[in-house]
Amino acid sequence: MTGPLLVIFPHPDDEAYSSAGTIIQHQKNGHPVTYVCLTLGEMGRNMGSPIFTTREELPKNRKHELEAACAVMGISDLQMWGLRDKTVEFEDEAELAARFRALIDNVKPARVISFYPGYAVHPDHEATARAVVRALQEMDATVRPEFLGVAFDHRTETELGKPHVIIEVGDEYAAKREALLAHRSQTEALLRSIDNAENAHVMELLQRERFYHYPFS
Ligand SMILES: [Zn+2]
Repeated sequence: MTGPLLVIFPHPDDEAYSSAGTIIQHQKNGHPVTYVCLTLGEMGRNMGSPIFTTREELPKNRKHELEAACAVMGISDLQMWGLRDKTVEFEDEAELAARFRALIDNVKPARVISFYPGYAVHPDHEATARAVVRALQEMDATVRPEFLGVAFDHRTETELGKPHVIIEVGDEYAAKREALLAHRSQTEALLRSIDNAENAHVMELLQRERFYHYPFS
């Protein structure tokens, strides 16, 4: 896939789990990546493991973590839109879709990565997914970028089948791990458990990034 990549997620760290390897591959191949992160995840319950931050300090911490993760992934165009965490679902969907559309017209991505509506589990994820798909739906099919949707609801494979696109990111895994680790307040405990348990299933998920195309009409 050639051309710019546009990544849209509501929370810092959504990108690292689902698509850091793909992002890094795009950069390696000389294609610019724009990442729009809608909130700072300031309502998150994780404060580090062991705890190293406070409710008051969390947004600042997560902003720094996000910047550090983007530096690891080589993302030069990081846009923080400053929406409030846990409230994306209350945004006007048409308005948010219009903002995404303006962004798409500006970035002219070949590919857009975001959540897949209906299978993204968290209300902020779902609201983001709906608005992204709406923006893309309204585009002419001849100019619409490829959409790679991240779906992780437990119903995903039963209802959507196997992932439509699987991107092998084993070569990028060390950098992906570093990006995950940069989101320290959220990921430290998880990464420790992966390392300790050598959890083969989680490793497989992290090294083979999986996406679904959306059936635009
Ligand atoms: Zn999230």
